[in-house]
Amino acid sequence: MRVVRFHAPGDVRIEDAPEPPTGPGDVKIRVRACSTCGTDVKILNFGHHHIVPPRVMGHEIAGEVVEVGADVSGWAPGDRVQVIAAIPCGQCAECRRGRMTVCPNQVSMGYHFDGGFAQYMIVPPNVLAVDGLNRIPDGLSFAEASVAEPLACVLNGQNLAGVGEGDDVVVMGSGPIGCLHVRLARARGAARVFLVDLNRERLDLAANLVHPDAAICGSETDVVDAVLKLTEGRGADVVITAAAAGAAQEQAVQMAARQGRISFFGGLPKDKPVIALDSNLVHYRELTIVGANGSSPQHNKEALRLIAEGAVPVADLITHRLPLQDALDAFGIVARGEAIKVTVEP
Ligand SMILES: [Zn+2]
Ligand SMILES: [Zn+2]
Repeated sequence: MRVVRFHAPGDVRIEDAPEPPTGPGDVKIRVRACSTCGTDVKILNFGHHHIVPPRVMGHEIAGEVVEVGADVSGWAPGDRVQVIAAIPCGQCAECRRGRMTVCPNQVSMGYHFDGGFAQYMIVPPNVLAVDGLNRIPDGLSFAEASVAEPLACVLNGQNLAGVGEGDDVVVMGSGPIGCLHVRLARARGAARVFLVDLNRERLDLAANLVHPDAAICGSETDVVDAVLKLTEGRGADVVITAAAAGAAQEQAVQMAARQGRISFFGGLPKDKPVIALDSNLVHYRELTIVGANGSSPQHNKEALRLIAEGAVPVADLITHRLPLQDALDAFGIVARGEAIKVTVEP
């Protein structure tokens, strides 16, 4: 079969590999859609400390079951499925408290296990043990289902930041994650949603799809001023940073309303994790700053449901579909910010 395999930073190959055998505790799927994101570009360029090469990449996975291990029940060939990316252990103190996104023993598809940029993939017992294989509802395409994984992460972020009815929400960063944040905030009853990006082209591309109440270009305007003006001086109830920039996090704190919530949704580069924070803003305005680390199996199920029910449409966010052979082009399109969502169909 054909696979997209990471060998070293800068060395990702599209090559032949033997079809993986199905162990007694495994489910084997024929991958039908595996979407790409900035994480894939990061892995391509820098590798990842959890990846021991060679490793098949791809973590936003949907496909159909072709073989079920002897010890597995509940699945049959032909079942259409979506697979979680982050796999919690289900046993540790955090998992037992229901905090599966911060499981210290977490492993991941495409990192510890071969991922979805391949014609066939093994769903390992670890995924099945935490109920991480989800049936795709009828009428939902594989490509749409593959977006459940990033949406699950977005859902975790908005749960933690308490996005809800009547909130003015600012989303900083207009990539695919930013677009999903805009859509989900609307679905949760946000009053107004403002979208911010430094790159005018990328902002316009996203704004034309998700229609924020205002699109603010950070390289043309003072973003904090703009948000204060749009909110009659109050600031935003929730600010979500979906950009790997410390400056965005600093601005987020400055544009938050009293008792506002700030989600540092996107992480910062490993070598630049420190920001300047006016602690008195947090103190006097009673701000809450939250992080976000991936998603749980439960978030994936809910994300799939939100997409299927039309609460968070994603079909129009998939701007590019490419065959496996063109996966490196897909990474290039993502890296240059020319697309919203790029899906590889092996
Ligand atoms: Zn991703
Ligand atoms: Zn755990």
